[in-house]
Amino acid sequence: MGQKILFEKIHIPGIKTYDVYRENGGYASVEKALKMNPDDITEEVKTSGLRGRGGAGFPVGLKWSFIDKKSGNPRHLVCNADESEPGTFKDRYLMEYIPHLLIEGMITSSFALGANLSYIYIRGEYMWVFKTLERAIKEAYAAGWLGKNIKGSGYDLDLHVHCGGGAYICGEETALIESLEGKRGNPRIKPPFPAVKGLWQNPTVVNNVESIATVPWIILNSGEDYSKIGLGRSTGTKLFSVSGHVKKPGVYEIEMGMTVDEFMNSDEYCGGMIDDRPLKGLIPGGSSVPILPKHLIFKTANGEDRLMTYESLSDGGFATGSSLGSGGFIVYNDTACIVRNTWNFSRFYHHESCGQCSPCREGTGWMEKILWRIENGQGTEEDIDLLWSIQAKIEGNTICPLGDAAAWPVAAAIRHFRDEFEYHVRFPEKIKNRDHFVNEP
Ligand code: NAD
Ligand code: SF4
Repeated sequence: MGQKILFEKIHIPGIKTYDVYRENGGYASVEKALKMNPDDITEEVKTSGLRGRGGAGFPVGLKWSFIDKKSGNPRHLVCNADESEPGTFKDRYLMEYIPHLLIEGMITSSFALGANLSYIYIRGEYMWVFKTLERAIKEAYAAGWLGKNIKGSGYDLDLHVHCGGGAYICGEETALIESLEGKRGNPRIKPPFPAVKGLWQNPTVVNNVESIATVPWIILNSGEDYSKIGLGRSTGTKLFSVSGHVKKPGVYEIEMGMTVDEFMNSDEYCGGMIDDRPLKGLIPGGSSVPILPKHLIFKTANGEDRLMTYESLSDGGFATGSSLGSGGFIVYNDTACIVRNTWNFSRFYHHESCGQCSPCREGTGWMEKILWRIENGQGTEEDIDLLWSIQAKIEGNTICPLGDAAAWPVAAAIRHFRDEFEYHVRFPEKIKNRDHFVNEP
């Protein structure tokens, strides 16, 4: 068993409740942090090397250090719990089973930032988790960890949990802020970044659930101790939510640095392929990142072992690599249809586009239509090239990363599985009567 930081106590019966959480050392990091200089807490997080666990991997301590503390404006910490990336369900697991860990992290992190009003923005579909968090926040207020003059320290913090309306785009941090302000969740142009102008134009840090839940361990131990776990710049442990054709789908905490082979095939983790069928592809970091074909999953293009780290999973760039992304680990066996899968993703991005920029608004719908044609045996060879050119024109030309996220899966599918697209257009009669043509748009 590798080192556990987030899941260390998750299996303790009753850990959801305040009493059990507290009996097992809960809120000790707040006790320690309240006696520290807030800037020293930021330094510890910087030293830890912790990188944002929402998908972008931006260093957490560095982001905190961008917050302007001199202006005197109110500051905010907003937890991004709008986990909506297809294939990603690790934050839900944490919030559902050990909600006080997130609340403890919110208090410690808010204190470091000098925030007196903080929010957890949770996706609308996680209504039962929203209720779990509300209950836990109420318990934390009752025990004196939230509210005025926390444990006699003179520090005040109010924490609210806000439920989104079910739009994927509200997971983009500026759209999330707009939504929290009561407006339509349209992404803002960055810069300015939220650290400069965020919620109500105040300096705001937006961090993912897993990132914030890691802070208590760093404060209780040290940034240096955390930096010794993992490999190179991929410090610490990471949650992966595993789905698809493996024997043991689920949420796993691993120390970064193990090989993809070990993670996929050991009994401790994914347990190998279901029914021992051949592996076809892997998306290591949620639907937005490129799919890897079989020959690039266990080895990089240079012949090195592919590791569960930010660096190794992206080795080769998008030509021969992918990204750790949000840790949504989706495994495909030989029965999966890559064209159908790509169409399904395109349908999702088209539906979730906010429509502000034309490459994304028009391009996602166009790609969805072409992919549907190809998938249903009505496509042409030219359609494959057209798809390629549309995705290339979306990438990098939009306000927010949803445009890129819609383009990359299409690019990777054509790059690595062009033969499947060609099969669809060359043998339409073989494609037409397949029983998976059931969900026509
Ligand atoms: P980003 O790289 O634009 O930003 C990362 C973070 O760093 C942001 O908080 C940003 O404000 C901050 N930042 C970057 N440069 C800065 C600067 N110069 N000054 C101050 N702050 C700065 O990426 P993003 O838009 O936050 O996230 C994109 C990622 O989100 C994708 O890689 C995707 O994997 C992931 N994603 C995750 C989910 C999910 O459900 N977890 C859903 C969709 C997408
Ligand atoms: Fe909206 Fe898409 Fe533009 Fe993002 S890229 S702002 S989702 S239209």
